[in-house]
Amino acid sequence: MSERKRIEYFTKDEVSEVLGLSGAELSSKVGADLSQHIFQMLEDYFSRTSFFNLEALKKANMPHVSLRVKTVHLMLDGFRHEISPETHLKILRSIGQETGFSFSLDFISFLKSRKIPLNYDALLEAWVQFDSSADWGKLNATFESDNLIKVEVKRNFLRLGYETDFHRHCTFFEGYIENVIDGIFLQWTRWIEKTPLRPPPLSYEVISVNEDKTEERLNDTCVFLVNFAKESLPSTRSVLANAIEFYHERMDERCGSEARKVLEYALKEKLGHPVDANLKTQLCIDECSKYVPEFDGKAWTETYGVLSKPEHISGIRITDTYSVLREVTGLVRRLSRVSLTPDQIASINKHDLIRKP
Ligand SMILES: [Zn+2]
Repeated sequence: MSERKRIEYFTKDEVSEVLGLSGAELSSKVGADLSQHIFQMLEDYFSRTSFFNLEALKKANMPHVSLRVKTVHLMLDGFRHEISPETHLKILRSIGQETGFSFSLDFISFLKSRKIPLNYDALLEAWVQFDSSADWGKLNATFESDNLIKVEVKRNFLRLGYETDFHRHCTFFEGYIENVIDGIFLQWTRWIEKTPLRPPPLSYEVISVNEDKTEERLNDTCVFLVNFAKESLPSTRSVLANAIEFYHERMDERCGSEARKVLEYALKEKLGHPVDANLKTQLCIDECSKYVPEFDGKAWTETYGVLSKPEHISGIRITDTYSVLREVTGLVRRLSRVSLTPDQIASINKHDLIRKP
C-alpha cells in the first residue's frame, strides 16, 4: 500500500482529475494541437498530390482556415475527386497513421509529467478523454474481449454534415487509432516495468483497425474495431521503447543507435535467432527480400544504411530522429504482421547469417 501510494498512479475513475485541467483549459490546449494536426494532415495530403501549390496555402493563412470543418471537407472532397476514392482512402490512412504515431509520443510524454496509468483501462480512458476535448469528435474506447477494443467516435468531424457516403474520409481515423493505441501500449508497458507497480501480464500490439459500417447509425457516430494481440517481437519493441526515450531526452546519437538495433533485433527475432547474436544484417535483408514478397527490402536497406553511417563514418550524425523513429516503427510493424512459413525461414537461414564470436 505505502509502496504503491508513493508511485503517482491513477485508475480509470481518476482520469479527469489527473488530466488536471478544467474542460476549458484542456479544450484550448488540445484545440491548438488539433489545429496543428489538421493543418499537418492537409499539408501532408497536398504534398503527396502534385497539383497543389503548398506555398499558396501557407500564404492563405491556412492554420486559421483549417478549423472550419466545412472547409476541410471541401478541400478533401476536391482532392478525392481529382485522384480516386481508393487512392484518397489510402493516403488518408497513412496520414492518420503518422498523426497517430506523433500523438502517441506527445501523449505519453504528457502523462509522464503527471502520473502513470495503473492499467490498460486507465491508459485508454486517459487517451479518449484527452482527445475528446478537441473538436474532432467525442471518443469512447472499451475492451470488448481479449483481442478486441471498440472505439466510438461521436460527432466525427470528418463525417459531420454529410448526407451520403458518410465514411469517405474515415480511413484517417483507422490509421490514427491504430498508431495511437499501438504507440501508447508500447511505451506505457515499458514505463510501468520500471516502477514498483505491477506490469500487465501481457504486452499488446495492434494488428488492425477497421471501421464497422454495418450499423448505419442515425446519429453521427463512427465505430472502429481494433484487433490486438500479444506482441510478436517483444524484445524488438523494448529496444524501440528505449529509442523513443532517447528521442524525448534529445539524445540523438543514442536514439539513432538504438533505432539501428531495433532493425537488427526485429530480423533476429523474426527468424528465430538469439537477439544478442551478431547478425550479418545487410545479407539478412537481401535474403528476406528474395524469399518474402511482402518484405520491403529497399526501405530496409535505405533505413539501415542511414542508421549505420554514424557507426562507420566519423562526423556523421543523425539529426532528424523523429523521422528515423517513424520509419523504423513502420518497418517493424509491417514485419511483425508478415507470417513466415517454415520453408521461408529455412531458405533465409540456410545462408550463414550469424558471425561466429
Ligand atoms: Zn466513419
